[in-house]
Amino acid sequence: MWHILGAGSLGTLWATRLARAGLPVALILRDSQRLARYQQAGGLSLTEQGHTHRYPIAAQTADATQPITRLLVACKAYDAANAVAQVAQRLSPDAQVILLQNGLGSQAQVAALVPQARCIFASSTEGAFRQEDFQVVFAGQGHTWLGDPQDSCAPDWLGDLQQAGISHEWTPDILSRLWRKLALNCAINPLTVLHDCRNGELRQYPSEVAALCDELSQLLLACGQASAAAGLHEQVQQVIEATAHNYSSMHQDVQQGRRTEISYLLGYACRAAHQQQLPLVQLPALQQRLVHHLQARGLPSH
Ligand code: NAP
Repeated sequence: MWHILGAGSLGTLWATRLARAGLPVALILRDSQRLARYQQAGGLSLTEQGHTHRYPIAAQTADATQPITRLLVACKAYDAANAVAQVAQRLSPDAQVILLQNGLGSQAQVAALVPQARCIFASSTEGAFRQEDFQVVFAGQGHTWLGDPQDSCAPDWLGDLQQAGISHEWTPDILSRLWRKLALNCAINPLTVLHDCRNGELRQYPSEVAALCDELSQLLLACGQASAAAGLHEQVQQVIEATAHNYSSMHQDVQQGRRTEISYLLGYACRAAHQQQLPLVQLPALQQRLVHHLQARGLPSH
């Protein structure tokens, strides 16, 4: 049984594809109000290439009693630990917990809460957004890398993902992937918020982008992530070109008055630099500007 904690964008994308492949899935929703609202909606809706289907997947709240052997955590990074804590006592001794959160930091918070479980980290380039509660649009095909920094043996359920058509790969280097994605995010997303612009408009700030890439590369090297540091500036420039017309996820969050995952992205990078006693200038200054920007809009800055 796949227990899926959080029925937002990615949770819905995984739950619906697993369920339609005939695999057993149960959603774990925030509370009884959300459960009632879900039952009213009659299931999860997924829209793909203009076609919408509804999947009446079973749902429960955290206080159900069924043991959990495989838990997919599909909350935002800042909600993951609290959400897992609510179901921790239901995890079986051989439980596996799959963490879909962007950035770094939330994975370690969850792992510390459930030392008996195997924690598997994921990094995904799939794109989905919520149109309404329990109605999700699959906006961008992508790929998901999965790995366990403690144990390079692949889990026995990758065949389920194959069966469900979830494009994936098991990697021994998941931390490198998560660091690289974090660095790309730190070089692009905060600037798009501060300059209130699309990714492509960062072409107007080449020295700001280059200086950030230089400090991010130093940080990756200091943290033992040499392969994540290689060619970072070039890839940042490629991403800026390839996504020139898009607004970054952080820009969209701020625009829509939603909390950002800053603490698990730029915040994590700045804390890591401090721990490594790296005398960086640009990254902490960027974080300070972003924190002020968020606070001025009444948004959480952590
Ligand atoms: P999302 O749409 O906001 O969904 C998060 C879900 O978690 C919400 O449905 C929320 O419930 C639920 N939740 C929070 N606390 C909970 C709790 N205690 N118990 C049960 N459910 C709880 O977020 P998302 O876009 O799917 O993002 C999830 C993670 O994936 C993030 O770290 C994000 O950066 C990463 N990611 C997302 C995408 C994407 O395209 N969306 C792509 C790659 C990576 P409510 O509905 O009740 O608020």
